[in-house]
Amino acid sequence: MATFQFDLLELPPEAEALRGEVRAFLRETVGDAAPHKRARSWGGFDREFSKKVGARGWIGLMWPRQYGGHERTALERYVVLEEMLAAGAPVSAHWVADRQSGPLLLRFGTEEQRQRFLPRIARGELAFAIGMSEPDSGSDLASIRTRAEKVSGGYKVNGTKIWTSNAHLSDYAIALFRTQVVPDKKHEGLSQFLVDLKSPGIEIRPIYDLSGEHHFNEVHFQDCFVPEDMRVGDEGAGWKQVTTELAFERSGPERYLSSIQLLIETIREVGKEPGERAAVTVGRLVAHLATLRQMSLSVAGMLQAGANPNLEAAVVKDVGTGFEQEIPEVIHGLYGVEPRLESGSQFERTLGFLMQHAPSFSLRGGTREILRGIIARGLGLR
Ligand SMILES: Cc1cc2nc3c(=O)[nH]c(=O)nc-3n(C[C@H](O)[C@H](O)[C@H](O)COP(=O)(O)OP(=O)(O)OC[C@H]3O[C@@H](n4cnc5c(N)ncnc54)[C@H](O)[C@@H]3O)c2cc1C
Repeated sequence: MATFQFDLLELPPEAEALRGEVRAFLRETVGDAAPHKRARSWGGFDREFSKKVGARGWIGLMWPRQYGGHERTALERYVVLEEMLAAGAPVSAHWVADRQSGPLLLRFGTEEQRQRFLPRIARGELAFAIGMSEPDSGSDLASIRTRAEKVSGGYKVNGTKIWTSNAHLSDYAIALFRTQVVPDKKHEGLSQFLVDLKSPGIEIRPIYDLSGEHHFNEVHFQDCFVPEDMRVGDEGAGWKQVTTELAFERSGPERYLSSIQLLIETIREVGKEPGERAAVTVGRLVAHLATLRQMSLSVAGMLQAGANPNLEAAVVKDVGTGFEQEIPEVIHGLYGVEPRLESGSQFERTLGFLMQHAPSFSLRGGTREILRGIIARGLGLR
């Protein structure tokens, strides 16, 4: 039977040196943020913060210099990401573009698209959204129905995207549309587009989540014109490209660090002389965290070596999101404090925020069941 492999990896000195710089920057910029605010981390949207990160050269870290990148390594990028997430920095205004839209353009975009978009992304000036899911197409993404019909000079788009995080705050989305209906072959006839979210014919409507917050949206397209030069890659090549994009989306430390602020607050709360139950609980969670970090680092090492660790990345996301969801449950059980949203101690509010958001951790970026299908296929079990 096939198996997966996680080789242990030591971070090179240049990555550790960068860690010190990033920590100093974060102390200065977000050092005094309250824990329940930090817990929002990669949901936090702050363009000024993103511009500061861009000015330090930490967006597009691995991209070629000619497109505003910095030609550094996957391991250095890993260190920047884990420090940002551990500090609860509001990375959302540059996060999607840095993680997936930029790399996608680098790989499949035209030279003109690369020159036009990548340097601005690297400076932290452009925010991107992800236009994949539709009302009846989530896990079964290939069944999307939003049509991009060829017209003079471009395409006319009609249909609806859903769960589009930060569409109301972003400049562009990379969206997957159906350019051709091929009977019985739903993976064919799909294409990706760069969509200016301020275009006429687009209406963005809010969806409020369980905690009453607005980050999701429905994005409605009615006869929206998208110019030909905004198509990314060949017409009809969308499925291959979107699966590459999903691989960029699934392999990082954000898949096990979403509840880290609560763990940090618990360690503070438990103090230097914890009771036995608290010591066992915290010790177990920290041991899991250290193991997951090694597994995730190992994936970064494989990416750096040019390998394609899709199987291992799916394992990290599946186990990692389970860990993120376990933290609020276990800590709630340990203290029996009331999770709160609006008032209460920092600890209660951090717990309240994470209790309400944890169910989404194993949905976003591909559900647990879908990942397990990928893992089973990778192991030759289906
Ligand atoms: C916080 C958050 C942010 C998001 N942001 C975005 C975004 O910015 N852009 C975007 O495009 N989408 C976004 N999504 C949508 C997300 O990608 C989808 O929710 C996800 O892919 C699941 O699709 P669905 O909601 O339609 O559920 P469904 O696909 O209907 O699934 C429902 C349930 O059935 C299970 N299931 C489905 N198919 C199978 C199968 N073949 N085998 C076994 N079980 C199966 C699923 O695992 C799930 O438990 C976001 C979601 C969340 C929670």
